[in-house]
Parts: sequence; C-alpha cells; structure tokens
Amino acid sequence: MTPKIEQFFAESQPDTPCLVVDLDIVAQNYRRLCDELPDTEIYYAVKANPAEPVLALLRDLDSKFDAASIYEIEQCLALDITPDRLSFGHTVKKESHIRRAFDTGIRQFAFDSIQELEKLARAAPGASVYCRYLTPNDGADWPLSEKFGCNPDYAVELLCNAADLGLIPSGVSFHVGSQQRNAGAWDAALSTAARIYSDAAGRGIELSMLNLGGGFPSHYRTPMSELPVHTDAIKLSLKRHFGDDLPRIIAEPGRYIPGDAGVIQSEVVLISRKSPDAEKRWVYLDIGKFGGLPEVLDEAIQYRIRTPHDGVETGPVILAGPTCDEVDVIYDAAGYELPLDLAVGDRIEVLSTGAYTASYSSVGFNGFPPLKEYYI
Ligand SMILES: *Cc1c(COP(=O)(O)O)cnc(C)c1O
Repeated sequence: MTPKIEQFFAESQPDTPCLVVDLDIVAQNYRRLCDELPDTEIYYAVKANPAEPVLALLRDLDSKFDAASIYEIEQCLALDITPDRLSFGHTVKKESHIRRAFDTGIRQFAFDSIQELEKLARAAPGASVYCRYLTPNDGADWPLSEKFGCNPDYAVELLCNAADLGLIPSGVSFHVGSQQRNAGAWDAALSTAARIYSDAAGRGIELSMLNLGGGFPSHYRTPMSELPVHTDAIKLSLKRHFGDDLPRIIAEPGRYIPGDAGVIQSEVVLISRKSPDAEKRWVYLDIGKFGGLPEVLDEAIQYRIRTPHDGVETGPVILAGPTCDEVDVIYDAAGYELPLDLAVGDRIEVLSTGAYTASYSSVGFNGFPPLKEYYI
C-alpha cells in the first residue's frame, strides 16, 4: 500500500471491487530491473497487465515488449510502439496471425516445434526465431513447465531446421516458472542454454541471443527475497556457463513490473458459520476467482490481505468470492486468519494485485461487471 493509493481510497471512496495501480511503483520496478541487469534488454510481458497507462509508461521508459497474441501486438502498435521493439513470444500461433504480425514489421518469433517453424517459414520468411526449451520449474508458485518448450535435447535439431527453412535461428528461451522463489532456478536453465549454444556451434549455427524469460517474483504472503538476490544469481550463472563471451541477453519480466504496484479493494458481503459452533467463519467478498483473482486457483498465489481491524485477535476463515459457483472459493486449505472484529460492509485490501488480475478475469459471469481499474 503506497501513500498515493491510500490517499486515493480516502478521497475517492471508489465503488468496490476495484484495482488501483500506482504507476510510480511500476516505473520504479522497471528501472530497478534495468539497474540490476544493465546488459539485458527488457521485454515487458504484456499479458501481466496490458492496461494502456502501464504500456504507455513503459514505452516512454524505452522498454521493449513481449506479446502473447496478435491482439497485444496491435494494442502496442496503436500506442506508437514500433515493431522493432516487439517480439511475438507465444510458441503456438495461428498462421494468419503470424502473417499479420510479419506484415506490421515484427521480426522476432518464438517456437518449440517443427510444425510451428513450418508456419513461420511460410508466413514470416526470413524472420528471426528463437527456440523455447523446457526447464524445471521447482520453486515456482505458478509453474509453466509442461505446455510450452521442447525437450532441450531436441532444440539444436529444431534450430538447424529453422536455418534450412530460410529463417534466422537467433537463440533460445526458457521460463523458470512464474513467481519463482528460488534464485537458483535460473542456473540449470542457463547451463542447458550454454550446452545448446556449443552444440549448435558444432553444427554450424552461431546463436546470438539468449532470452531469460520471466519469473521475477512479487511480494505475497510468504516473505520473498528482494530482486538483487535473483539477479545476482543470474549474473553469476551467466558468467559460470558463458564466461566473458556473452550473447545478447534479453528478459521478459511480467509479474515483477506491475505486481507490487496494485491494490484491490473489496467489500465484505457476508460473514457466516455453517453451524453456530463451527470454528471457521465463511467470509464472502465482492471479488473472487472470476472477478479478478484467478491466480488463487488451487490457492497457488496467496496474497497479503489488509483489514481495518488488523492487530486485534484473529480466527480462521474460509474466504470466498461472490458468484454462485461452488469453485469460487479463494482460500481454505491455505489457513488464512482474519480479525474477529471483521464486519459486513468492511473494506479490505488485497495487496500486490497489479499483475494477472483485471485482464485475467471473466467478462460478466453472474452479471458482475469487469473489475474497475484506476491508474494513478
Ligand atoms: C508469462 C510469460 C512471461 C512473464 O512471466 P512472469 O512470471 O510474469 O515474469 C514471460 N515470457 C513468456 C513467454 C511468458 O509466457
């Protein structure tokens, strides 16, 4: 909670639920990452928070952007972000969307299969392509370890295929998993990258780019090491595996940039017990899994919660969302406790909700409107 957001809530008393993002923190996080990784080009992963004020701010700070779809690409272009600052980082794309992206001037594409390379060769002839490979995601609260990326042993073969198809095999990428708690997670991935580099060189392919992906964490319920712990580990691993002969390094931070900059305010709709002597209270909020907190799926991301009664005695709760869907429970097994004084009508705050919330929620399930967003 920043003083600016505090003041906004006090003065504006916005209807709940709503997300308020302090753009100063977004800028601060971006600059901090640039400072900690000075030789790395930052491609902000648009999907984390694609709101126009965030994109415009990062554009003005000279960020580059990683897009997951043609729609994100077109949104960036509409904000005067030039195509040389964009990469199309999804490994699964419609051929028609590849062509549309290529026609606008995009020249950097991700792939993880020969089938996707064949599409790229037809729809984006001569473009630069980089191969995403699988890496262990242990330590990540939101793993990305199965759906995208090829077996690392297959990467060199695919990079050779890319060259045969008239594409430019520029390098490799990986993702250590989102909200990665373990700063050591990058080391295994970078060791693999170095092996792919030398194997590719042995087959006559000189790679020039290494994409570190995302995974830089925000601050949720479990205390988290600060950014330098992660970035220092990355720099050490780069040196260990590549020596002084570093390729062009890029990173694709998503969550880290806007995550801690946002706060969701929500109203307590009902507090009840399933029987008079039940230990746990059910606390129903006006936000849930569908309205802006989809990452509480399986209680994976556990946000910090602030109430007007913090400091008094607490008791166990099951937190639930407002829709009539049985799965719209926020936290049960995670063992949250909230003040016994909590009352219906109280406004509570869900902290560090600037990433993967508003844009990631349903459009109108149960008739609830999309989450309101304020960028201040
Ligand atoms: C989602 C995603 C990112 C951003 O990940 P974070 O964990 O939010 O930093 C980066 N690159 C790719 C390819 C992604 O899909």
